[in-house]
Amino acid sequence: MQFVVGQQLREPVGTVTHYEIKESKPLAQREDSLGELTGSVDLMRTDKGILVSAVLRCTVAAKCSRCLSDTSYPLTLTFQEEYFPTVDASTGELLSVPADSDAFLIDTHQVLDLAEAVRQYRLMAEPMQPLCKTDCLGLCPRCGRNLNEGPCGCPSQETDARWAALAGLAVDTEQES
Ligand SMILES: [Zn+2]
Ligand SMILES: [Zn+2]
Repeated sequence: MQFVVGQQLREPVGTVTHYEIKESKPLAQREDSLGELTGSVDLMRTDKGILVSAVLRCTVAAKCSRCLSDTSYPLTLTFQEEYFPTVDASTGELLSVPADSDAFLIDTHQVLDLAEAVRQYRLMAEPMQPLCKTDCLGLCPRCGRNLNEGPCGCPSQETDARWAALAGLAVDTEQES
């Protein structure tokens, strides 16, 4: 998602440009997002650069962390980041950029690219353990059957210590999510 901001950089501080986003190829860095990316992006001229305020929505494909079936979930990314120009929009002179190497930069062609910010905020927003449904029953630890499809017939009273340990693990996983 790129914006050419040469014009915005010549506007007075405080000027806001609003964009409605509707892209059919969302979040191109990952192949697992579905459908459209929608939302809005506001670009506000600051004294140093451009403050991006973004709200972006898409649907992400995932595997359920309990039963491993294909599922999907909606993801909303809301963030604000300031981008700094590397070239003066009026004179073409190279500018000194913030020493902070994590700062977001507008490139020398005045292109403000949101891809890296979207990638970072997406990593923070994604659930660690996506579920197909909140009460997913997961897989039987003995036979691997998807218990959402019905009981598997394995003996429920399991006395083998190794399986008991596994069952304990499964309970821990559920409590975390
Ligand atoms: Zn599941
Ligand atoms: Zn079973």
